[in-house]
Amino acid sequence: MRGTPTVTLGICGLGTVGQGVWKHLQGSREDLTSRLGTRLVLKRAAVRRLRKRREVRIAPSLLTTDAMGIATDPGIQIVCELMGGTGLARQVTLAALRRGKIVVSANKALICDHGAEIFETARRHGGHFLFEASVAGGIPIIKALREGLVANRFPCIHGILNGTCNYILTQMAALGASYERVLAEAKRLGYAEADESLDVGGWDTAHKASILAWLAHGVWVKPDQMIVEGIDRITPADLGNAATLGYRIKLLAIIRRDFATGELSVRVHPTLLPAESVIAGVGGVFNAISVTGDVVGTTLYIGRGAGQDATASAVISDIVDGVSLLRNGKGVGEDPAPGRAAPNGCRLAPAGHIRGRYYVRLTVKDRPGVLAKVASVMARRQVSIASVLQHPAGLPGAAALVLTTHESNEQAIRATLDTLGRLDSVLGPPLLLRIGDLDE
Ligand code: NAP
Repeated sequence: MRGTPTVTLGICGLGTVGQGVWKHLQGSREDLTSRLGTRLVLKRAAVRRLRKRREVRIAPSLLTTDAMGIATDPGIQIVCELMGGTGLARQVTLAALRRGKIVVSANKALICDHGAEIFETARRHGGHFLFEASVAGGIPIIKALREGLVANRFPCIHGILNGTCNYILTQMAALGASYERVLAEAKRLGYAEADESLDVGGWDTAHKASILAWLAHGVWVKPDQMIVEGIDRITPADLGNAATLGYRIKLLAIIRRDFATGELSVRVHPTLLPAESVIAGVGGVFNAISVTGDVVGTTLYIGRGAGQDATASAVISDIVDGVSLLRNGKGVGEDPAPGRAAPNGCRLAPAGHIRGRYYVRLTVKDRPGVLAKVASVMARRQVSIASVLQHPAGLPGAAALVLTTHESNEQAIRATLDTLGRLDSVLGPPLLLRIGDLDE
């Protein structure tokens, strides 16, 4: 369309996400131009290796290895940072924002580590930082919190934010297969990274939980201020025990705020959810998020959390918002949500105030009196037992003892586990899982 105004774009990173963005921008070019009344023009794309074979066609003349050159090019209005990492990605992001540009990012690790600096830089220099793709790519959760649910305060947000872990737990439950076997299969299918530790250790979920907590409550909570536990110690027997008790195990992020006391807790851990709950039924690589607002009640969002197309969908949505910002000066802005920029007395809850019910698995010597000893340790800490399961542990002379508790708190249960782990009749470190009593 002749005479159509243009907006210029630079993409730093043409990997899984960058190529998805370029593929779909090309595929829907006419449609986007007519809907936006603006033509998007790719000026440059930065990569590490110029000669690498790529899934998408792109003119070699557009490629560069100089990502900073894109950030500082006065002819580029929107910069997509899709390289990952927190080194060059941070420099590129800050350099572009200092020039008042719009930066679109999928980089949750960068936002979690440097969010305060990034948003302050954007504010100071009139730039904009858009990051819908950083949490649950296929689910517009950031827009939901900032815009659709703006009338609300959020006592509880919880959900599955990592598709790799959800795939592994789903397959382990379905096949009765070991964690190691399913992880190897997930890597073969491209659902897990070569270094899986960020995902299975819960850290990727923690980065996303940090972003959601900031959006909902206006404070940055770093992973080292959260309870973060991964899925790598869960066995098929745990999934079977959970099923016997009427639960499924999911790796959840849980962000709770008590508005009476101002206390906030952010945690990531495997959680036993009632088998009939909607989130317990979300399997495979899907994500699911439950947001409870004080006005709206509970709302649920389910969709693909990552992968090329779901993430590209979110990046393109931010590019479109960027165009609207450039053309109309209007957009979502940098505040978490109106009224939430100031923490409003928000502070982190101490462990003793984080309450819940627990699942404890112990491998114990299979001899009389052991259960009584365990029960007496728990009673001393005022952790009361709700149920007991016992079965062979797969080691000669050993048994697996699975206990669930009535409501207790993190401080008491951790002290209990510490003492239990030191009993000579307990073999190896105890496994602690939480039982989720969450609204849905
Ligand atoms: P990726 O496949 O590893 O792609 C990274 C891209 O950045 C590659 O094109 C690479 O160039 C380029 N790059 C790396 N270092 C560079 C440098 N120093 N200079 C210029 N270019 C450089 O990563 P990805 O999976 O697309 O992830 C990108 C971001 O999106 C990350 O922050 C990730 O956390 C986030 N994210 C990813 C997903 C997903 O499903 N993959 C979902 C949500 C969010 P070469 O191609 O030449 O190596």
